[in-house]
Amino acid sequence: MSGPVGRFAPSPSGRLHLGNLACSLLAWLSAKSQGGRVVLRIEDLDAARCPRVYADQLEEDLRWLGLVWDEGGSDGGPNGPYYQSECAPIYLESYHKLEEMGLVYPCFCSRAQLHAASAPHTSDGNVVYPGTCRNLTPAQIAEKSRTKAPAWRVKVPDEEVTFTDLCMGEHRENLLTGCGDFYLRRADGVFAYQLAVVVDDARMGVTQVVRGADLLSSTARQIYLYRLLGLTPPAFAHCPLLLDVDGRRLSKRDGDQSLENLRSRYTAPEIIGKLAYLYGLQPEPAPRTPESLLDGFDWAKVPKQDVCLEPGLF
Ligand code: GLU
Repeated sequence: MSGPVGRFAPSPSGRLHLGNLACSLLAWLSAKSQGGRVVLRIEDLDAARCPRVYADQLEEDLRWLGLVWDEGGSDGGPNGPYYQSECAPIYLESYHKLEEMGLVYPCFCSRAQLHAASAPHTSDGNVVYPGTCRNLTPAQIAEKSRTKAPAWRVKVPDEEVTFTDLCMGEHRENLLTGCGDFYLRRADGVFAYQLAVVVDDARMGVTQVVRGADLLSSTARQIYLYRLLGLTPPAFAHCPLLLDVDGRRLSKRDGDQSLENLRSRYTAPEIIGKLAYLYGLQPEPAPRTPESLLDGFDWAKVPKQDVCLEPGLF
C-alpha cells in the first residue's frame, strides 16, 4: 500500500522563517514516516507580491535543509502546474461549477464597511460576513456595478463541519456563524486562497495537509468546497505556531529568524535538531538530519499549544 501524499505549500512573499520551516519539517516527517511522498506547490496566487526569485530561493533553502520533495516546484511533474500564478484557468472551471449551483454572488462591501459593521470576528481575525450583498436584486447589482467592480462570495449553509485533526484533535465550526459567506474571487479577478488550495490539493492527489494552526479555522470552509465540488478531503494536521521569545508570531519581516540569517550561523542539522527539540521530537536540541527523525515520528509527541523560541537557542 502506498503512503500519504503530503505537500509543502509556501507563499513566496519573502524568505522562509523558522515557523515555515517547522511546518515543512513536520509535513515531510508525517508523509515520509508513513512511506509517503511530498509535493511542492508554490502559492504565488498574488503574483505581484511573490516574485519568482523568492520561490527559487525557497527551493534552495528546503534542499539545503534536506527537506526534499518528490514532485513539483521547478522540478515539475505529472500534476502541474505547480505555481498557483499559472492556474487561473483551472480555478475558473471549479468556480463555474459553483456558479452553476447558484451559490456564487457579487459582493460590493468595502473592507472599511465590513470592519465598521458590528459583526463578530472569526477566530482568524476576519469579520464574519453578515450577508449584506447576499440577496441583492439584479437591478441593484447592475446599479452598484456601475461604480465598483465586485468581489465574489460563495453562500454557506447554517451547518457545522466536524473533522479530526491529526495534531489538534476534534475540531468543529459552524460555517454561517463561524465565518459566513466567504470570498472565492477578488474584484481584480484573482481567485481566493480557499478555492485555489482545495482545487490544487485535489488535483495533485494530496491526501495529507500539514500546515500552521493559523489555518485551522479555514479548514471547515475548505471541507465545504470539497463537498460541493464532489472531491474527497485530505487528512489535516495543523501544527502549533512558532512564537519569538517575547511570544509574538514570527513573520517574514523578522530578519532574525529568516533562513538567510540562520544559514550564516548554523549547519542544516543544527537548525533541524533545534526545531525537532522545540516540537517535542527529541529531548535535547542536538543536530539531526530529517531522515534520522523518521523513526518514531508521531503526532502525539507534538505540542498542541503555540511553541515559544527559547532564549539563546537560535
Ligand atoms: N501558503 C500558505 C502559507 O504559506 C499555506 C497554505 C496551506 O498550507 O494551505 O502560509
